[in-house]
Amino acid sequence: MDGNNFVEVRRRGLMLVLSSPSGAGKSTIARNLLEHVSGFQISVSVTTRPRRGSEIEGVHYHFKTQREFEIMRDNDELLEWAEVHGNFYGTPRRPVEEAIAAGRDMLFDIDWQGAEQLRDKMRGDIVSIFILPPTMGELLARLHRRAEDTPETIEKRLKNAHFEIEQWREYDYVVVNDDLSRAFESVKSIVQAERLRRDRRPGLFDFVSDLLNEKPV
Ligand code: 5GP
Repeated sequence: MDGNNFVEVRRRGLMLVLSSPSGAGKSTIARNLLEHVSGFQISVSVTTRPRRGSEIEGVHYHFKTQREFEIMRDNDELLEWAEVHGNFYGTPRRPVEEAIAAGRDMLFDIDWQGAEQLRDKMRGDIVSIFILPPTMGELLARLHRRAEDTPETIEKRLKNAHFEIEQWREYDYVVVNDDLSRAFESVKSIVQAERLRRDRRPGLFDFVSDLLNEKPV
């Protein structure tokens, strides 16, 4: 999808960062993007958090021991890393660098600390979106509905939510998820526009040069 059905202009991949407090619907939006918008690949993070019942190793996360995580971090294999809710999370470097160079887009479901580090390292390639819940009551209801975390974990996540929401100003876009399909449409529009940005499309130099050299018949 390049905004034009027939002419593909070469471009760099973009790094789409989705952040939100747990339970604001970010993971569902991420899943929809992967299913319904072509050209996206998700960055699978490493984490020391215990696996939830529904999660699959290598799909949702690469689950690591604390020691394994520290070795990756110390070997500079992580593009960014952070401690979230008492566990460590990090983004493996290599798949990201390969995807971006090949013009494929990468999706990141990471927190504000990770977003900050990626902005510092990969400035021009990052597009960041913060997803907000419509109310704090709805956020709590969604955490309970998910029913995959203990009451203590839910309590911790809700407390952290206030602090996380305060980071909203650092993001390029803010989407309120009061209706999932509307929030998804907004995210899709952002992606469509960002893919068309001039500075992301080095192929335009050749395209325009060919255009101007063409002798119309
Ligand atoms: P969960 O434990 O619910 O899967 O994720 C908790 C938080 O950690 C979420 O806000 C999620 O976006 C964030 N997270 C997941 N992977 C990474 C990562 O690789 N880096 C950073 N900085 N945050 C992550």
